[in-house]
Amino acid sequence: MRQKIAAGNWKMNLDSQKARELVTELSNTMTPSGVEVILACPALYLDMANTLASKNRKVHIAAQNVHDKDNGAYTGEISHEMLTSIGIKYALVGHSERREYFGEKPSFLRDKVSTLVNNGFTTIFCCGEPLKVRKSKKHKSFVAKQLKDSLFHLKEDQLKSIIVAYEPIWAIGTGVTASPAQAQEMHKFIRSEIRKKYSSQTAKNLSILYGGSVKPANASQLFSKADVDGGLVGGASLNAESFKKIINSF
Ligand code: PEP
Repeated sequence: MRQKIAAGNWKMNLDSQKARELVTELSNTMTPSGVEVILACPALYLDMANTLASKNRKVHIAAQNVHDKDNGAYTGEISHEMLTSIGIKYALVGHSERREYFGEKPSFLRDKVSTLVNNGFTTIFCCGEPLKVRKSKKHKSFVAKQLKDSLFHLKEDQLKSIIVAYEPIWAIGTGVTASPAQAQEMHKFIRSEIRKKYSSQTAKNLSILYGGSVKPANASQLFSKADVDGGLVGGASLNAESFKKIINSF
């Protein structure tokens, strides 16, 4: 059985006190059996969040960003070595906001993925098409290329530490959600690409999360689809009550 996951992406939100309260509340909450929680916190709060979450082994703290180099003259960046030194072993790579606003190119994402995988991290690799591409019906080939460019250099056994998050850009923070059928269609396609490149077993074991305006009201319908193994949640993960409802939607 592949892992069911409710992941929250706080982005650049919450002050220190609110972050502390949110992670405390979620760490004190029983997670349904078979479900893991990942919280991608701002870098500034990772150490605190990880200490608070350590009492609940089903809650993992993730970095929202990490550089591909081990260390060096990269002002403002954080490295896998720094994260490891405070016990963080989860990270996001390839979020559309990093691609779009910070110009992160597929080759850079590929290097980040390698660095993380080679250093024992679990990596949530984000992919997803903009509205124009969806409208032109080229969304499958667009996502296939994102996988090929930044993920398919990995060896088969390295896929064990990868979680894919399909996040159509037109659904992120817009209140527009992909329908459960649209999410299922793309997740099934992603799984088939993994099968073609690697094997049925690897495809079967890969957790694929849906992201894009997941809310308590739509989570259970999305998560009920065969190839949707959970969600990567932005806005609705900033409030303990709404995120707890999402965690309980499996
Ligand atoms: C995200 O940040 O990855 C995301 C899906 O955001 P939202 O849930 O707010 O659309």
